Amino acid sequence: MSLTSGVSSRDPAWNLLDDATVSILGRAREYLSGLGDVLEECERSRRFPAEIVRPLIDVGFVRGPIPVEDGGLGLTHLQSACLMEEAGRAWASVRTTANILTLVAELLSAAGTVEQKSRYLTPLLAGDRLGWFAITEREAGSDASALATRAERLPSGGYRLTGRKSYITNASHSDFGIVLATVDPTLGPRGITAFLVERSDGYRTVEHPHMPVRAVSSCDVEFDSVEVGPERVLGEVGRGLSLAMRGVNAGRLNVSAGCVGIAQACLDASREHVTTRQQFGKKLAEFQLVQKMVVDIATRTAAARELYRSSARLLDAGVDARAECSMAKYFCSESAVEVATQAVQVHGAIGLTEGHQVERLFRDAREATIPEGTSQMQILQIGKALLGVSAVR
Ligand SMILES: Cc1cc2nc3c(=O)[nH]c(=O)nc-3n(C[C@H](O)[C@H](O)[C@H](O)COP(=O)(O)OP(=O)(O)OC[C@H]3O[C@@H](n4cnc5c(N)ncnc54)[C@H](O)[C@@H]3O)c2cc1C
Repeated sequence: MSLTSGVSSRDPAWNLLDDATVSILGRAREYLSGLGDVLEECERSRRFPAEIVRPLIDVGFVRGPIPVEDGGLGLTHLQSACLMEEAGRAWASVRTTANILTLVAELLSAAGTVEQKSRYLTPLLAGDRLGWFAITEREAGSDASALATRAERLPSGGYRLTGRKSYITNASHSDFGIVLATVDPTLGPRGITAFLVERSDGYRTVEHPHMPVRAVSSCDVEFDSVEVGPERVLGEVGRGLSLAMRGVNAGRLNVSAGCVGIAQACLDASREHVTTRQQFGKKLAEFQLVQKMVVDIATRTAAARELYRSSARLLDAGVDARAECSMAKYFCSESAVEVATQAVQVHGAIGLTEGHQVERLFRDAREATIPEGTSQMQILQIGKALLGVSAVR
């Protein structure tokens, strides 16, 4: 990383990336940098910017990691993750939306039938139909295998869904979803199955406003005897949890990269602030203690970037890099919290003012240590890989 240059035509964050990747990132950055007005309006009013989903897909989000034969771009893990860094740097709500839509597309691509791909994946990749993914319930968070939503088999061969999912991103703005439910609670995790459900099936969504990522919704999704046909099973009956795990490495990498984007935005804002604001007749940048804060932000950001990119390269090389993706998620998300806290400190009171960029970065950074596995669950995953014993059960 060049320490002397700011955001130039060839950003130092793009060093060591090949020209094809830089070209993809350049298009994405150009689009994202034009979202200032819609960002401010949506953050203020907590509005989901549905109108930007199609252009996001056009510049490579969501379609990126999907194989070409399914209508995607066939990007590498590294390229897809770097795109998420761009999104996180610009607007974490966009990164969150892109992450969920990508997960839904990946699961449909991996396990969907020809009919399911044509009904859900093709319109999703065109930006015509949006999807959500639901595993979490109030009593089944980190322990997803404890989920209680029931899928009762009907004599017709279909299923009746009953239960309630919680914290489901963008369910209120979407047309369909993938929901995990158990066909037989006595089977434990082996009863858990993935189903495709559509709004017209009759599920109900209830929004619960949350602190971070204000331009996405967080919803309960209620199933009160919602009936679906047998063609709505995604993948195999009883294999829903393992299907969900197929998206786990990419999901964790995406969050990690988005966190580096937040950290980079904190660094950019802090450099700008300390080189323009004066106190005691000098620029803040001239005080050693202020320099230390900015240097800590820059060092953490650089280290976190290297970690998510090395994990992505391992996945691209075909290595089962589960522990490395957990390390990236753990380090990058905790670093984003640490860096955003420092950025607020660098800014003083203005950094806590509602509507200020750093205030948004601080709130959005705080989100990242919880979804896609909390920091504690990542630690336990890494501990198991390193030491050969599970500290969970
Ligand atoms: C912004 C956001 C978006 C989300 N979007 C979705 C979505 O689209 N779809 C979806 O299905 N879910 C979603 N979630 C839910 C998310 O996956 C859960 O919040 C997460 O799995 C943690 O579950 P929990 O919140 O119930 O916390 P809990 O599991 O109750 O954990 C509470 C605390 O206890 C700790 N803890 C729990 N078990 C252990 C243990 N064995 N050892 C040590 N510590 C432990 C946790 O680390 C945490 O600190 C979202 C969450 C957020 C915040």
